[in-house]
Amino acid sequence: MASNEKKLNGTVIVTYRCNARCSMCNRYKAPSKPEEEISIETIKKLPKMYFTNITGGEPFIRTDLPDIVRELYKLSDRIVISTNGFFTDRIVALAKEFPRIGIRISIEGLEQTNNEIRGLENGYQRGYQTLKTLREMGMKDVGFGMTVQDRNAPDLVPLYDISDEMGMEFATASLHNSFYFVEAKNIIHDRPMVAENFEQLINKLLQSKSPKKWFRAYFNHGLINYIYGQPRLLPCDMSFDTFFIDPYGDVMPCNGTKDKEVMGNLNSQTWDELWNSPEAEKVRTKVRHCDRQCWMIGSVSPAMHKYIWKPGWWVVKHKVKGLFTGHPYSMYENKICCDYRDGKVTKEYLDTCSTCDLKAVVNNGLSEASKAQLIGKTGEEIVDNDIKEQMQTTDK
Ligand code: SF4
Repeated sequence: MASNEKKLNGTVIVTYRCNARCSMCNRYKAPSKPEEEISIETIKKLPKMYFTNITGGEPFIRTDLPDIVRELYKLSDRIVISTNGFFTDRIVALAKEFPRIGIRISIEGLEQTNNEIRGLENGYQRGYQTLKTLREMGMKDVGFGMTVQDRNAPDLVPLYDISDEMGMEFATASLHNSFYFVEAKNIIHDRPMVAENFEQLINKLLQSKSPKKWFRAYFNHGLINYIYGQPRLLPCDMSFDTFFIDPYGDVMPCNGTKDKEVMGNLNSQTWDELWNSPEAEKVRTKVRHCDRQCWMIGSVSPAMHKYIWKPGWWVVKHKVKGLFTGHPYSMYENKICCDYRDGKVTKEYLDTCSTCDLKAVVNNGLSEASKAQLIGKTGEEIVDNDIKEQMQTTDK
């Protein structure tokens, strides 16, 4: 497979350091060591991409993020940065230099719910104000990202309404477990309640005039299917034309695997060597047999483009239905939702269909040096001190 044949979809995890304390992600307890984080030299070795997501940890913790974006800008047609929105000044400064990049700020619900889930002081106001400022600056590709769970599902539609009024994108996800999230215990408890909230959102999206939102409706339909532990609606082709690269330069298929799967290392290899290596092929074979059934935008968006007729047909069907009813979509189109409602399957059975494993020991994928810094110190202490120092030197 020659990488120069076509552009890829890449996610660059620039750091594992994070200043938030999200209840569904323990990454903040397992930060990477700054000196080991992916360098500009390694970034320059990445292939051409049609889409690049920059993520973390919290990417804006890296004070050299503008240098990284400058390089990625040469390689990629479109860049979207996922952030918790805390470093407003840094985000605004970057947006001034690159007004065409996308910014997604994670907001987990209305003010109280968000601040409880994300554990960031004043997190909602900071995120919201940052988004508003970006909008006022004329940035087009800005929006909310929300990870839906039992605690915040009732806020799903109200938050969508706020984003809609502000003319913003609204990206959703649900709980996942993996080495990346340093978590194996995430699970949805009240599936019908969460699904009902998704159903309301799906109907609103379908009733909009935006084709992009109709396809978002399909993605959310897939989330209902996912939280009931059913096989993915679309095949997963991660590592074929899509990749993730972690702060250590390790190239991986995705961020959804239980343990880190490595195709090669871009610090020591060239892209073509790595992409065409036997190790990369082994990982591709594993992906073909992967049973984790994740439904995250990083793996679903490329699949929706590749298998466009599937979501396309779903949209057409529901738009036609929408001509006759104000409620074109029902969660009970999913057979599993009916089976659960009708007592044909139990909650215990559905729990076994999820990736939640209460006994799992999570391998966080940190390097030995990053692990060593955790002896005698917590990840939170390390990152808090790091940010304090940064503020004294760079943000004066
Ligand atoms: S289903 Fe795809 S995205 Fe999810 S863990 Fe498996 S290979 Fe990764």
